[in-house]
Amino acid sequence: MVAQRLDGKACAASVEKELHERIAACASAGIQPHLAVVIVGDDPASHVYVNSKVKACQRLGIKSTHIELPSAASEDEVRAVIHRLNDDAELHGILVQSPLPPHMDEEALTDLINPRKDVDGFHPENLGRLVQGRLDGMLPCTPSGVMRMLQWAGMDLTGKRAVVLGRSRIVGNPQALLLGAKGADATVTVVHSRTENAQAICAQADVVVAAIGRPEMVRSDWIKDGAVVVDVGINRVDDATRERGWRLAGDVHPEVAKKASWLSPVPGGVGPMTIAMLMENTVRAAETFQSE
Ligand code: NDP
Repeated sequence: MVAQRLDGKACAASVEKELHERIAACASAGIQPHLAVVIVGDDPASHVYVNSKVKACQRLGIKSTHIELPSAASEDEVRAVIHRLNDDAELHGILVQSPLPPHMDEEALTDLINPRKDVDGFHPENLGRLVQGRLDGMLPCTPSGVMRMLQWAGMDLTGKRAVVLGRSRIVGNPQALLLGAKGADATVTVVHSRTENAQAICAQADVVVAAIGRPEMVRSDWIKDGAVVVDVGINRVDDATRERGWRLAGDVHPEVAKKASWLSPVPGGVGPMTIAMLMENTVRAAETFQSE
């Protein structure tokens, strides 16, 4: 078997097409969705991600404000920026790019964001709604992007065995909740670094979502014939054959394509979907402000 490509780029393009219409409707009501992206420090990967988000805003006609603070900035300075953005009635979405410098408490800062502007979906109010099975809050972009991609490919998850590799606050945990939520209806197992027999558990799954940050750890003997495999991982690995000396690798080894029925590529899989969902959350936040 050769896996079909779970094409995040194409799916993201279809999401953007829908968003164009919603943004036009906002414009008729005199509103331009507006996203603020706050970045602290000079982590090169974070700057690449922020640039992709700003570019997506430009493509769609979403206004973006890019706020950069030096890595030596204090937590109080970031706090002041968040308060200012919360109070700005013309602004609909706030994103604080992760990771923050180690001297800052990322979760405490996330807590300060107005939940209705929390387009990353990491505020406890939004994550709490998800735990309650309420899907009407801001949903975290990467796991909701995975769900949208599975839906786009016409997959019925009802009663399927899903394994999520990873239990982070931003990917693994919310991913497991979304797969198991009413309407998706998969039966979910979460595998983490303390799990015994992770490979055997994974090999029973109809759907595997890998979000562990371990380059190409999931090999074909982890995957059942015909399983659907979503690779969330984005890892930089050394590669002397490339001019730049490195390449991007997922958490899933490419050999899995010979066994899976669907496999998302890295890059071009979950990455573009994460950005598309961020844009969707921003438009949704603008629509909500408009209807109040
Ligand atoms: P974290 O480091 O926060 O979490 C990793 C999780 O994987 C943890 O729960 C950890 O377990 C688990 N884990 C680590 N090693 C193993 C192992 N050997 N076996 C089983 N479980 C293991 O990472 P994130 O969730 O933030 O990100 C995961 C990956 O997804 C990264 O590659 C990241 O770059 C990528 N990513 C991609 C995005 C996209 O848009 N495509 C967006 C966000 C992340 P434990 O809890 O026990 O420590």
